[in-house]
Amino acid sequence: MAIIACPDCGKKISSRAVICSYCGFQLGEVTEQDLEVYRARKLRDQRYRLNMISYLVITVFIGGFGWYWWDSQGFVRPPTQGPLILMALTALAYLVVRVLLFQNRRSQRAMRKKQVLGSGLGRNL
Ligand SMILES: [Zn+2]
Repeated sequence: MAIIACPDCGKKISSRAVICSYCGFQLGEVTEQDLEVYRARKLRDQRYRLNMISYLVITVFIGGFGWYWWDSQGFVRPPTQGPLILMALTALAYLVVRVLLFQNRRSQRAMRKKQVLGSGLGRNL
């Protein structure tokens, strides 16, 4: 087994891989199962990334809240717009990430259901 560069995206992959795990480029005979594995891995990676982004967004929101507290001198004075804008933007970003995570989970569920149906069919044959 050697490491080669994907002809499409140039990332390093195994010479035995029939499908590039980064961009999905097909290097050989690809079965439906290979595609399923590729799609499942993509969804898992995407969910991992989205979770990381959501933690980052929450952290920045808390930072914005701290800024708001500091800027208003402990909620005594009206704050400047900076912390409010930061908090509004991170709240919006959090909502977007949640929607993307919801879609990701729905895709994963649909894929699992298909796999269950597939294996059920296999048993009946
Ligand atoms: Zn590739």
